[in-house]
Amino acid sequence: MTNSNHAGLVVTYAIDHADKLVNVNEEWTRFAQENEGGTRLHPESVIGQSLWTFVREDTLQQLYQQLVTTVRQSHVQVNFDFRCDSPRFRRHMHMTMTPREDNHVQFTSVTTRIETRNDGLRAAAAFTGVTHVTRCSICNLYKLSDGRWSEVAAALDQDGLLNSNQRPRLIWGVCNPCKERLAATT
Ligand SMILES: [Zn+2]
Repeated sequence: MTNSNHAGLVVTYAIDHADKLVNVNEEWTRFAQENEGGTRLHPESVIGQSLWTFVREDTLQQLYQQLVTTVRQSHVQVNFDFRCDSPRFRRHMHMTMTPREDNHVQFTSVTTRIETRNDGLRAAAAFTGVTHVTRCSICNLYKLSDGRWSEVAAALDQDGLLNSNQRPRLIWGVCNPCKERLAATT
């Protein structure tokens, strides 16, 4: 297993009562590395750091913080599907958040399915650059200027959000359907 592009991959990590990482498996660092573009992340170097250092986008951070609070208060496991695409692959993932002793929370995300993207080059362009493109961190849809969400990066072109003079800058958010779906699981 030298890369994370296969189904069945299990990424686990856990946080303590103060949201600091206490346990991270090898797959987590490999996964983070591949998705964040090469930052070296060894398990030893991330232990003790806040989980929120790695979940920076505001809406996503709020959402995860709400879920963590729910898990701690209710002592009930939370499950949801989400997407974690890379420029070349569509990854369908399933997250389980489990309450542990002392307000620790265990996260287990399993890659349930992987598809190769056929719009890979366009998507790769959307991963770096400087115009603003909003993408849902959960389902990976792109936000169009009229507020609709689309899976097809090319729709941004038709929409005029991308043009040849400006390179897009990606902003991660959470779309309304995902917010509602996650709120319903808690
Ligand atoms: Zn979404």
